[in-house]
Amino acid sequence: MHLPLSAQEASPPRPPRLAMLGGTFDPVHLGHLRSAVELREALALDRVHMVPASVPPLRGEPRVSPEQRLALLRLGIGDTPGLVADPRELHREGPSFSADTLASLREEVGVEARLVMALGQDAFLRLADWHEPERLFVLAHLVVIDRPDHAAPLPVALEALIAGREVDSPQTLMARPAGGLLRLALPSRMAISATQVRRRLAEGRSVRYLLPEAVERHLLAHDLYRH
Ligand code: ATP
Repeated sequence: MHLPLSAQEASPPRPPRLAMLGGTFDPVHLGHLRSAVELREALALDRVHMVPASVPPLRGEPRVSPEQRLALLRLGIGDTPGLVADPRELHREGPSFSADTLASLREEVGVEARLVMALGQDAFLRLADWHEPERLFVLAHLVVIDRPDHAAPLPVALEALIAGREVDSPQTLMARPAGGLLRLALPSRMAISATQVRRRLAEGRSVRYLLPEAVERHLLAHDLYRH
């Protein structure tokens, strides 16, 4: 259908919408993957970049290499529409700061794109301790995904950091390119953690249905997290 010129001028192209979900993914599990799918749906995102940290700044070094964690993430995503295994933190030296990752995404997508940094409630509670937390809001919106068993009062420094930023709907959030905060309770909240998966593998117990079958097969075939 050809719209009259005036109608075309009245509806400028919709700015791209994308999210970054960073993490250690040590290993990726269905809590990560289902959250990414439902996040994409809830915010009508074009893509969700899942970005494994090469050197996570706030925790001990994972025993499984960044390349292996990325390979597991790729297996887990498979052909899921809109999910991308993004290796950009593996190409940087030093600690993997999310602000730097967002800056590189922002450079690629331009100033009008709606850029979201998604993180689980547990990670959100520690946000004020991150590197350059104010810069995160200059570059992106923050979307906090509710996660079972992680309810806690917000630390005072976090309250100060988010003051005046919270909005109550995806529509309001997406009206601007960055700077807002939205808390989301996605439909399938899952009490799955990588800690629980690693512990089970070390004890030789079943991890079936906690992670995708292709990831499970790879872990077992290569004896990862076994010792
Ligand atoms: P670990 O148990 O080793 O700390 P994890 O399961 O929390 O790992 P991470 O790789 O640290 O996994 O998490 C990456 C991001 O995904 C974080 O923002 C985290 O809060 C979020 N996340 C992890 N598991 C879930 C889940 N089950 N539901 C919602 N968000 C999750």
